[in-house]
Amino acid sequence: HQRALAKALEEAKVANAAKTDFLARMSHDIRTPMNAIIGITALALDETDNPKATEENLTKINSASHFLLGLINDILDMTKIEDGSVELNRELYAYDDFIGNLRTMFEPLCQKADLTLHIRKSENLPAVMTDKVRLNQIFFNILSNAVKYTKEGSIKFVIESVISGNKDILTFKVIDTGIGIKKADNARLFEKFERLDQEQTDIQGTGLGLAITKKLLDLMGGKISFESVYQRGTTFTIVIEQQIVDKSKVDFKTYKAKKMTVDEYFDGSKYKILLVDDNLLNLKVAEKMLKKYNLNVTSVKSGLECLNYTKNKRYDLIFLDHMMPDKDGVEALKELRTIF
Ligand code: ADP
Repeated sequence: HQRALAKALEEAKVANAAKTDFLARMSHDIRTPMNAIIGITALALDETDNPKATEENLTKINSASHFLLGLINDILDMTKIEDGSVELNRELYAYDDFIGNLRTMFEPLCQKADLTLHIRKSENLPAVMTDKVRLNQIFFNILSNAVKYTKEGSIKFVIESVISGNKDILTFKVIDTGIGIKKADNARLFEKFERLDQEQTDIQGTGLGLAITKKLLDLMGGKISFESVYQRGTTFTIVIEQQIVDKSKVDFKTYKAKKMTVDEYFDGSKYKILLVDDNLLNLKVAEKMLKKYNLNVTSVKSGLECLNYTKNKRYDLIFLDHMMPDKDGVEALKELRTIF
């Protein structure tokens, strides 16, 4: 009994130390981009009459804000995974959509970084049941790293499928010609907050991406491994076994990835949008973003106002915030559903 008590006490101490360490780390990691945002905003306010400087300042603020949001999302994700509250969805996913999504995201990034992106896949990949968001997240992490840690050369993404019964064994390889990983660092790669070889690079990151990727793959019953030659390049290999649903194979020959360019913005002048949020800054930002597409945007500040507006006018799309005074989003949606 005594021994069990001592053990429990020891475990509690370790958990508490880990939490303290986590908080110390977080306050540092959050403060860094936050200080950049505050500092550069102050600079920008001093330089409003210089358009070139303003543009540079805003670009920096934008980048620090995205980094901060990414960090917060990663922390929330990590916390959710660690306390076991992540549940995987099972949805039908065709691999042409999967590859299309990644291509749309990474082709411009590779172009910008002057890297060649090659995507090679088995001729006929089946549609499977999987968690789309998590699968995208895994490959987003691995491909982002490949882009981040490769100065020149190429990134290859290879997908192979071997079918055995009603299972599909998918092997994904992401091969880069980047900075590589030292043998001595291999064991730390999937640990959270570990960033390797930092004296060599000034690349932004949190050290959470691969830890999250590994945990998600554990949940999915997948495996991740890597091989690397320092200063030559790295290959990440992910193997996932999935249930095939749609036996009729997806024909990739007919598949063409869609590229979004600025000229292809669609003209939304036919559509009416209702924005519902009690946060005025959020409304301003959303209005600006949507008006770029000529959409007709109306903004209101509560669920109650949303119900009043929808009484007399039809909207093509309603963006509804959750927490608001005067009827929150969930209540408003319930009532909307009884009307339409
Ligand atoms: P982050 O990129 O945010 O630092 P990750 O958890 O995604 O965090 O990666 C952890 C570390 O592993 C990185 O900081 C980097 O040192 C190393 N790493 C990851 N991917 C690669 C790669 N493709 N090539 C070289 N090093 C990599």
